[in-house]
Amino acid sequence: MGLVTTEAILLDVRDLQEQDRIVTFLTSEHGKKRGVARGSKRKYSRFAGQLQPLAKVRATWFEKEGRELVRISSLELLRAADRLYRDLEGILLGSYLAGNALEFAQDNEENEYLFRLLDTTTNALCEGVERNLAARFYEAWVLRLAGVFPPPAECPTCGGDLLTKKAAITQGAEGLLCRECAGGEAKKVSRGTVEFLLRIGGENLRRLGASPPSVRTLAEVEDVNARVRRAFLQDELKSYRVLKETLQSLPRES
Ligand SMILES: [Zn+2]
Repeated sequence: MGLVTTEAILLDVRDLQEQDRIVTFLTSEHGKKRGVARGSKRKYSRFAGQLQPLAKVRATWFEKEGRELVRISSLELLRAADRLYRDLEGILLGSYLAGNALEFAQDNEENEYLFRLLDTTTNALCEGVERNLAARFYEAWVLRLAGVFPPPAECPTCGGDLLTKKAAITQGAEGLLCRECAGGEAKKVSRGTVEFLLRIGGENLRRLGASPPSVRTLAEVEDVNARVRRAFLQDELKSYRVLKETLQSLPRES
């Protein structure tokens, strides 16, 4: 308690009153935090231009026991994320990454892995890594870190190897089973998707990018991740719905 300074990644920024904002951010040691940044909308405010989701900052805040909101005293920019925000798709993707962390990070609970995942994925995207690959990698890892969707090595029912026995997604979309255990009604999942979900355990984005899965496989990975996440949350992640609806409503390039 008291005054805390640490690295943080901004997740959400909202206007509170005329001059103030509510900022939600993720830290490694303290999990997710929400705080008030006073005077942050003033033109020459010390926060000016830095309050953008996915920006990495050194945050200093004051907290009191029992209070939900902390008082942010400074946010010093360490890495902007503006290279991701140069086009609409990048803006939507940034919001989707932040939205996942907002949903799955716990308040005040150490989460070094999620912090590192968000940090490295944002860095890679700013450096121009393939967006589709990065998004699939990130969303699968968020589910894995939350204990929602473990690596699909074996069928949880019979213990059979999912690469040899072939996989399907359960009716309730809790995860992957072998096709025998899943039953005939279950949606089949290709070997490529199982392989990708296993590869992310040992390969970072750079290595995955050197021999990436096909666009078709990535589309199936996205579908499987979305089904599992939806079943767990009992709802669609809002930033994902916005992303899909907005991109689908755009005129197609011919
Ligand atoms: Zn089985």
